[in-house]
Amino acid sequence: MNEIAPIRFCPLCGNKVEEREAFGAIRPVCPACSYIHFQDPKVAAGVLVQSEGKVLLVRRINVPMQGKWTLPAGFVDGQEDPRSTAVRECLEETGLEVEIVDLVDVLYGLEHQRGASIVIFYRGRIVGGELSAGDDADAVAFFDADNLPPLGFQATEQVLARWVSERADSSDCG
Ligand SMILES: [Zn+2]
Repeated sequence: MNEIAPIRFCPLCGNKVEEREAFGAIRPVCPACSYIHFQDPKVAAGVLVQSEGKVLLVRRINVPMQGKWTLPAGFVDGQEDPRSTAVRECLEETGLEVEIVDLVDVLYGLEHQRGASIVIFYRGRIVGGELSAGDDADAVAFFDADNLPPLGFQATEQVLARWVSERADSSDCG
């Protein structure tokens, strides 16, 4: 697992920070203005959207995982409800408008340096829009459980593995 790169300069006053003990850990502390840098988790949110027994996936344009397929997802903005993030990212990447039905899972684990360490997945129901790849996706499609494309990110793999096994347990999902 990659570590997030440490900060070197104070985001408030621009002075060089020092590593000091603060609140029970070694943290970057600004000697000029006393700012203490707490490394907050980066959070992403996405949707699991199913239609006629198939799951909605997007193909990534960007590194990492370029060319791999993932669930529609993206970073939560600082002031954004993660539900809104999931709805917004789905619209941007797939052209489909969804509403949030319920929570699927909250996953923890940083997969790469510029990624999220917490990913929230909701179940989404399509309420409008037209299928069209956009933003950081160059293709979008629905896939059967037994015919999934090459997947990117463990978070997507974990959610889809559970989706596949739940489908195997139940015959009445649609
Ligand atoms: Zn400072």
